[in-house]
Amino acid sequence: MIQQKRTTAIVGGGIIGMAHAWAAARQGDQVTVFERSDKARGASVRNFGMFWPIGQTAEHYPLALRSGELWREFASAMNITMRPSGSACIVDQDDEAAVLEEFASMAADLGYTCELWTREQAEAKCPGVRKGVTKAALFSPTECNVDPREALAALPVFLSRKFSINIHWSTAVTHAESGKIRTASGATHIFDQIIICSGHDFQSLYPEVFAVAPLKVCKLQMLRTVPQPSGWLLGPMLSSGLTLRHYDSFAVCPSLAAVKQRVARETPELDHYGIHVMASQDQNGGIVLGDSHEYDDDIEIFDKTEIDELMLRELRRLYDFPDWTLAERWHGIYAKYPQGPIFRAEPMPDVHIATGTGGCGMTMSFGLAEAFFQSQLSLT
Ligand SMILES: Cc1cc2nc3c(=O)[nH]c(=O)nc-3n(C[C@H](O)[C@H](O)[C@H](O)COP(=O)(O)OP(=O)(O)OC[C@H]3O[C@@H](n4cnc5c(N)ncnc54)[C@H](O)[C@@H]3O)c2cc1C
Repeated sequence: MIQQKRTTAIVGGGIIGMAHAWAAARQGDQVTVFERSDKARGASVRNFGMFWPIGQTAEHYPLALRSGELWREFASAMNITMRPSGSACIVDQDDEAAVLEEFASMAADLGYTCELWTREQAEAKCPGVRKGVTKAALFSPTECNVDPREALAALPVFLSRKFSINIHWSTAVTHAESGKIRTASGATHIFDQIIICSGHDFQSLYPEVFAVAPLKVCKLQMLRTVPQPSGWLLGPMLSSGLTLRHYDSFAVCPSLAAVKQRVARETPELDHYGIHVMASQDQNGGIVLGDSHEYDDDIEIFDKTEIDELMLRELRRLYDFPDWTLAERWHGIYAKYPQGPIFRAEPMPDVHIATGTGGCGMTMSFGLAEAFFQSQLSLT
């Protein structure tokens, strides 16, 4: 007797939705994706394109590395940009250098691969670092630079070609319950399993679940320079001493408290807007710069020039790019689950919610989705 394939619907065509679509298809499901926009337009195309394992806690680092293997598989199948650039955290304060030294001394035991660089090494390897300012740098080889616009355009093509996944663009799902979904046109579709990956939209589907879920919404402002001249390359993607406050991996360092106290005392405006600075490079050579973090009720519709200026002030202190002319400014919004890498709920049998990857969705989604389907298999 021929066994029917399980049918799985994915609501949302961002990185989490596509990652779950891919993982479901690899397990043999027949997958259909519903995305209300004509293409991915959410957080997944508005980010830096940083695949960034070094920001993950030691517990989640191996899952990030597994995500990297899947990224490489996809990137090589579709021939998209995925630069194995690594990353360099450049710091210009003594207390920040102390954090890097502490982290580097613990890193091998915690399972991280990274090394401490001197100013000379940082200046030699990172052409965008301002001369004479670096106190220390932490180089990590695991980070890769993708271009989110290119990647999120290629993912649906990859999934359709390789797994015959059906993708319904411009199709909002207005209702989901065990066994079926309804779309805005009134059409009903039957599925064995539904996975809702609706990003920060907490209103449309299962608002009662989101109303009590410990999720936050975060708005980030971003900038992009014009393509740099003569094929100039950034080298490793760059982060800063301010970034140490932001990624969970550095929370194991006792010296971090001193950095946080100094920033709060001397530059409270950076805490107020959640600013730390990072830089990646897009496929055309433009430098993608950011970012800020405004949460929940503090989020306003309009972007603040003050935030852009503060980010540029901090960026220019550390970095020196050939051309700072700005080509684009935008913001992105994501859902963040403060208690882990992803928020999951099952509001009805075989209806799953997956969101809340915060600033790590590009890094973690492929691994998280695979782990989800593997855990389902282990239950059967
Ligand atoms: C500015 C910025 C920079 C970032 N930088 C990085 C980075 O460098 N590295 C990293 O790892 N992470 C980064 N992140 C985080 C990462 O981008 C997010 O974690 C990730 O994109 C979230 O993916 P998502 O699929 O949940 O959300 P989204 O990309 O927002 O996708 C959700 C999709 O669901 C659709 N949808 C919602 N409701 C419905 C419905 N009812 N019916 C149909 N469709 C629906 C929406 O239209 C949307 O396309 C950054 C995020 C931002 C905003």
